[in-house]
Amino acid sequence: MKIGILKETFDGERRVAITPNIAKQLIAAGFEILVEEGAGEHSSFKDSDYREVDAVVEKRGVVFHEGQVLLKINPFDEEDLKLVDKRQILISKLYHKSNPQLIQTIANKGATAFSMDAIPRISRAQDMDVLSSQNNLAGYKAVILGAFEMTKIFPLMMTSAGTIAPSRVLIYGIGVAGLQAIATAKRLGAVVEATDIRSETKEQAESLGAKFISVDNEGEQSEGGYAKEASAEYAKKQKEAVNKSLFQADLVITTANIPGRKAPVLITREQLMQMKNGAVIIDLAAAQGGNCEISENNKTIVENGVKVIGTSIDPRSVSTNASDLYAKNIYNYIMHLTKETTFEWDLEEEITDETLIVHDGEIRKN
Ligand code: NAD
Repeated sequence: MKIGILKETFDGERRVAITPNIAKQLIAAGFEILVEEGAGEHSSFKDSDYREVDAVVEKRGVVFHEGQVLLKINPFDEEDLKLVDKRQILISKLYHKSNPQLIQTIANKGATAFSMDAIPRISRAQDMDVLSSQNNLAGYKAVILGAFEMTKIFPLMMTSAGTIAPSRVLIYGIGVAGLQAIATAKRLGAVVEATDIRSETKEQAESLGAKFISVDNEGEQSEGGYAKEASAEYAKKQKEAVNKSLFQADLVITTANIPGRKAPVLITREQLMQMKNGAVIIDLAAAQGGNCEISENNKTIVENGVKVIGTSIDPRSVSTNASDLYAKNIYNYIMHLTKETTFEWDLEEEITDETLIVHDGEIRKN
């Protein structure tokens, strides 16, 4: 079975779906690997790195023509699809709910398409979960961005010129990104506090050395392992519990999201007015509406001496590691869908069912 790896054409994309290391593992498993020329160049992987592991490097047209399975990170676009035919299996993110036209074009081709962004968030699928692997890097990068924007350093430093107190970092939302942000800020020597609506995150935050800020709430604030929308009562109690730490913080990283909804506002303008001059807020939920009342996506706003940076932090900015993790996710997914290099999928099985969007030209998920 020939797997074709295409160079990403999406504006600003720097990652590649399969790295030389994972190409080697797929070849060891019995697959043939065809890579488009230059596919890994923006992630620091050279064509010669792929050749060294016995992958074949070819022009784009050849990869499209010969690949039985075609891999990309970003959705195949209309230009790509002109080169696809019905015997082919496409694997990429598809965002099928917001891309009905694209899904229709794939169906019209009679092709089969799986979507990596539709991997269900169940324990069994953890090693295929591209949202998690990329969010983890965003948590790390948020701290590095914060360090760059702050006018202070993180660690306690005793020098002959005096002692520098450590910076105080506050993290809202202890999911995948929040946990990595805690670990990174802690490693850099900050005093770290964190809060989450899901009480089960207390142990996880504490195991990484953060102080967990508990909110005295009654009633269940999460279901099935995910946050529910907070009640007004919870939001009020959260402010009471967190305000002291918020007003002392040098860096605040917000990552709070509720699946399928607008992000909750956790820092109002009124609270911001009481924060320290020079504090920095990195709002990772900015694209979902923001956890800070004044934040705007892809913008830096300074108010009352507080710098509010609304950003999704793109894993493309750490494209080598982001590609490594993404490629490992895809490897695990391909192993899940195949038996001895032949596709043998079970439509009754949850991961396959959720991710198979178009099957031999038939749209399965809208
Ligand atoms: P997310 O991006 O949806 O949200 C980030 C965090 O914000 C969550 O921890 C959430 O509880 C928190 N939050 C929401 N509203 C809040 C509020 N009002 N105040 C404070 N915090 C609030 O989360 P995520 O990173 O996708 O992870 C959520 C959970 O899913 C975690 O337990 C994670 O381990 C789990 N998960 C499981 C899998 C899997 O099993 N395959 C994959 C990814 C994540």
